[in-house]
Amino acid sequence: MNYHITLIEGDGIGPEVMGSALEILDAAGVDIRWDKAIAGQEAVDKFGETVPEETINSIKKTKVAFKGPVTTPIGKGFRSANVSLRQKLNLNACMRPVANLPGITTRHQNVDLVVVRENSEGLYSGLEHQVVKGVVASLKVISRSACNAIGQFAFDYCRNHGRRKVTAVHKAAVMKKSDGLFLEEIRKIAKKNPFIEYDELAIDSLSMQLVMEPSKFDVLVMGNLYGDIISDLASGLVGGLGVVPGANIGKDYAVFEPVHGSAPDLAGKGLANPLAAVLSGVLMLEYLGEHAAGDRIRDAVYKVLEDGKIRTADLGGKSSTNEFTRAIIEIL
Ligand code: ATP
Repeated sequence: MNYHITLIEGDGIGPEVMGSALEILDAAGVDIRWDKAIAGQEAVDKFGETVPEETINSIKKTKVAFKGPVTTPIGKGFRSANVSLRQKLNLNACMRPVANLPGITTRHQNVDLVVVRENSEGLYSGLEHQVVKGVVASLKVISRSACNAIGQFAFDYCRNHGRRKVTAVHKAAVMKKSDGLFLEEIRKIAKKNPFIEYDELAIDSLSMQLVMEPSKFDVLVMGNLYGDIISDLASGLVGGLGVVPGANIGKDYAVFEPVHGSAPDLAGKGLANPLAAVLSGVLMLEYLGEHAAGDRIRDAVYKVLEDGKIRTADLGGKSSTNEFTRAIIEIL
């Protein structure tokens, strides 16, 4: 089958890691026609906004985007490119599978969890105002419909991927109304899924337990800010930001992207780890139903990692982005 997919290469290390992922997708024999679009710094330079209308229109046409990390200029009043994309396309669920990789030794074994993050509202609604001079307020917006949608996504994901347990993460003891509403909705969905184990945990308690015993967690569902922080924390358990893929999924569209940012310190040096981008490509193939090609890429990546001779600096090696890419392609 051939696919038409929007490609956003992104800023900083974006073009390098996405370039690697595209070569690998190609070597796996998936026929994709790319519709190139821009977002982030490049879009600000050209159009004066982080996500131009043309980019949104491209994704509305293709329904799926493969995206690198993008930069939003800070403190200049620009809307975050990622938040803007997620809101304009109603990508309400963000999914990040975090698991130990072969050959990469970390302090923890048997980590295999999924962070499901509400993507469209919460503290990232972008609604901030000055109350009086010297005092600002940031609105945490929680709607019943978005809580319901993210809960549904988490339980569906759990069932469809043979997982067994969903943990809802909150701080309802303090934010009684907002996180209270979140829990209320998730509990309704838990009741309808009696064969999936369900429990709840405060965000502070989860943070400690994740660092001490991450292997006991399965699917974690939470609001926007908590999910942002926990995704990065969890990636640290299995090798860092360079190895964790991500997907933003809504009813009509899906955008696949690595968890990491544009890493300006590494940009242009050819040293970035392309693994997160490559594995995001695998998530995209699975979403498209191309399971065989996804498995082929995953197997090739695992072989290179297990072998241990070729790995990038963030994983303790000395290889370049290109050397790592070539090793995977050779196996494919
Ligand atoms: P953003 O604000 O855009 O989310 P961030 O502050 O989370 O970005 P990142 O750019 O994601 O920061 O990364 C932080 C650091 O982690 C980088 O400066 C880099 O040193 C390292 N890093 C991130 N991604 C990679 C990668 N793919 N390969 C190697 N190192 C990486």
